[in-house]
Amino acid sequence: MSDRIMRCITSDGAVMAAAVDTSDLVFTAAKIHLTSPAATAALGRLLTAVAIMGNQLKQDNASITLRIKGDNSETGAIIAVSDSKGNVRGYVENPDCPTEYYSNGKLNVAKAVGKTGILNVMRDYGTGEPYIGQVELVSGEIAEDITSYYATSEQIPTVCALGVLLNKKTHEVMLAGGLLIQLLPGADNETIDKIEKNVSELEPMTTMLAKGMTIKEICEKALNGFEVEVLDEMPIHYACSCSREKVINAFITLSDDDIRSLADEKGFAEAVCHFCKKKHRFSKMQLEQIIKQKHSPK
Ligand SMILES: [Zn+2]
Repeated sequence: MSDRIMRCITSDGAVMAAAVDTSDLVFTAAKIHLTSPAATAALGRLLTAVAIMGNQLKQDNASITLRIKGDNSETGAIIAVSDSKGNVRGYVENPDCPTEYYSNGKLNVAKAVGKTGILNVMRDYGTGEPYIGQVELVSGEIAEDITSYYATSEQIPTVCALGVLLNKKTHEVMLAGGLLIQLLPGADNETIDKIEKNVSELEPMTTMLAKGMTIKEICEKALNGFEVEVLDEMPIHYACSCSREKVINAFITLSDDDIRSLADEKGFAEAVCHFCKKKHRFSKMQLEQIIKQKHSPK
């Protein structure tokens, strides 16, 4: 596990750049969810985006959830979640969706995701009421949709690049990563011109990673011509937050009869986690104990 994320800022405070290597994370996600190439690319891009957005959360127990639901979507809904500590997880409704390619050989992610639809952004600061934003998809290629979210919902001029490179034969994830550049209040026209020039000269994310560029070098390339300070750097990985206890807490919200009816003909109830495919299994006797626990005073 060597995935890392880094956030940099120009020393005048005008521009922020964050770069992330999500190669292992997306590789792991594809192994867990047995995704088709199109689903791997779509889920991988959304996981990469949410990793960067999660890293921007300042609160300790905050998390962010991205949900894309395209019209006429082959992937179905795609969900990605990150906390502020580099724990990222996600899933795609139809992991075995068909894969199509553009004439240049690149994966047609927009076809799989849906060119129109909705991107939901939910920030949970751990204090109760989550903050929810929503934008229409502009392309279904995901990076443009994230850019559009920042522009319309948060009025932050943003450039977003996301990439997932698959082995042409095995379809295994070779490289994945992302870059987010944001203009902060006070960025003047000269700064904007410089950033636009830098962006026009940037190579695709996976090309830069394939060359062996570090995320720091990628941030510096994005902020070329400025004095750059590193705000923070940390490891990130695929990690699920599910637990037996959380499943029990969900069961407790049901009626006694509904809890009993969870058991199958063999007498077992099984809750499979969407995010990590872990099976949480309960015997009939354990279900009765949960019912007892539900009625006992705390
Ligand atoms: Zn899980």
